[in-house]
Amino acid sequence: MGTIIALANQKGGVGKTTTAINLGAALARNGRRVLIFDFDPQANSTAGLGMRTQGLTTYDVVVGGTHANDVVVETTIENLSLIPATPSLAGAEVELVPMMAREFRLRRALEPLRDRYDYILIDCPPSLGLLTVNALAAADEVIVPVQCEYLALEGLGQLTSTLELVRRNLNPHLSLRGLLLTMFDGRTNLSQQVADEVRAHFAQTFKTVIPRSVRLSEAPSHGQSIFQYDPSSRASAAYDALAQEVIAGDNKRETGPGQKEVAR
Ligand code: ADP
Ligand code: MG
Repeated sequence: MGTIIALANQKGGVGKTTTAINLGAALARNGRRVLIFDFDPQANSTAGLGMRTQGLTTYDVVVGGTHANDVVVETTIENLSLIPATPSLAGAEVELVPMMAREFRLRRALEPLRDRYDYILIDCPPSLGLLTVNALAAADEVIVPVQCEYLALEGLGQLTSTLELVRRNLNPHLSLRGLLLTMFDGRTNLSQQVADEVRAHFAQTFKTVIPRSVRLSEAPSHGQSIFQYDPSSRASAAYDALAQEVIAGDNKRETGPGQKEVAR
């Protein structure tokens, strides 16, 4: 059974899409079968992977009830598949409102795909609307990218109360996998201060920090992950380290905390 991870933060420009693409690519390089579900009408992860679509999209899956299997496309990266988006997805936010069990559309759609992938990464839009709620209802875990900038913590309170509401009403086993510090600039005190502050508030912050990297911002315009565009960059090392952390956390959970005690 695969793990479904939502990349969520209602702030735009914090690194959700960059993380979907590059964590996805890193997990795939490590032999994991990965599916990226582009759930943002801006369709940046579709474009960033060099994909264009005139065919079926996440909109058809969630609104139209098309079988998700029929919408999967293969990317240029081995082991990495995509369910693409187009701007038509913007309509879904409104069209879902009158639907029966509207918060569970995505969860039901992904259920049959779970055993085909080790990880399904959902790239969420920058809002806490019905699309993001669908993603949180479908997910096992959430990763929250946080930009190492002024006001980084702003909005995180609202996000954590949304997670709590989703747990209480829709998906009791949703867990916060971690906050991910992105666009860290080691030359500035501000980045370090923000990182310290985030870690002080949230124990579940990944050890791996994603550096600010021009290469990372250039890669999507070439339709490539950082591993294709600049495999020897610090950014590619960082996303690989993040993948190792994600995989190690899974292994730990499978053995369970009890067994870890015994091992010690
Ligand atoms: P979101 O999906 O949360 O809106 P993106 O991943 O699209 O955020 O990132 C916003 C912008 O910042 C994009 O132009 C992206 O290329 C750039 N970016 C993301 N991460 C980094 C980074 N670590 N260093 C430099 N630029 C980055
Ligand atoms: Mg995005």
